[in-house]
Amino acid sequence: MRLGGLVKNSALDYPGLLSAVLFTQGCNFTCPYCHNPHLIRLFGQPLAEEAALNFLRGRRKYLDGVVISGGEPCLQPDLAEFCKKLQGLGYAVKLDSNGSNPELLADLIERRLINYAALDLKADPRAYPAEIAPLDQGRLVLESLNILKRSALPHEFRTTVAAPFVDARSLEAIARAAAGPAPLYLQPYRSNQVLDPDFMSRYPQPAPEQLKEYRALANKYLPAIIRG
Ligand code: SF4
Repeated sequence: MRLGGLVKNSALDYPGLLSAVLFTQGCNFTCPYCHNPHLIRLFGQPLAEEAALNFLRGRRKYLDGVVISGGEPCLQPDLAEFCKKLQGLGYAVKLDSNGSNPELLADLIERRLINYAALDLKADPRAYPAEIAPLDQGRLVLESLNILKRSALPHEFRTTVAAPFVDARSLEAIARAAAGPAPLYLQPYRSNQVLDPDFMSRYPQPAPEQLKEYRALANKYLPAIIRG
C-alpha cells in the first residue's frame, strides 16, 4: 500500500466508531477543489505499511475502526489484502472511494473485506465533467452507486458542493440516482487549499442558504445532511 498519511484518532470519519484514518497516495481524478492535492500524485512512501499496522496493533484497545481514504484507495493493487489485515487485527474497515472501480468495490463487498463505504458523487453521474475525470467515469460511478444500493453493506453518499459541478439541477440528478435509505452528505468545498486555485478562484464557497436549499431538494429522494 502506498500510504501518504495517518490521522491517529477521529470521531467523525466512521459513523459511530472511533477510528484511525489512513490516506493512500495517488488518484485518477483531478477535482479542481480537491483539498488533498499533496495526495493525488505519487511522492514516494512517507508512511510504511508496516509502521501503520504496528501503530494500529498498539491502538486496538482504543480504536474500533480504520478508514481507508485518499487519494483513491481502489488504485492500490493490494487493497483487498490490506483490508484483510486490518480486519485480522479486529478493526471494522470503512472505504472512501470516488467510485471509479465498481468491479473492485463489488469484490470487496462480496468477500466482506469492508464494513462500511462512502461513495463520492461529484456531479450528475450521467455527465461527469472533464475537469473532474476522464470520459465515461460517470458511468463507472453510477455502477458503483448501484452496487452499493443493491448490497447489504452500510454506506453513505457524499457530494462536495462546488460550482460549476454542482448546481440545483445536477444536485437533484445526484439525489435521484442515489435515492433510498442511505444518507447523502453535502459538504461545501473549502477554498483555502485546493488542487487548482486558479480554476476555483472563479467560484466562491457556497453560502449556508444555498446548502440548505440543496438539502431541501435532495430530501425529496433521500436523507440529506449538511456536513462541515
Ligand atoms: S477530491 Fe477528487 S482528486 Fe481529490 S482525492 Fe478525491 S477524487 Fe481524487
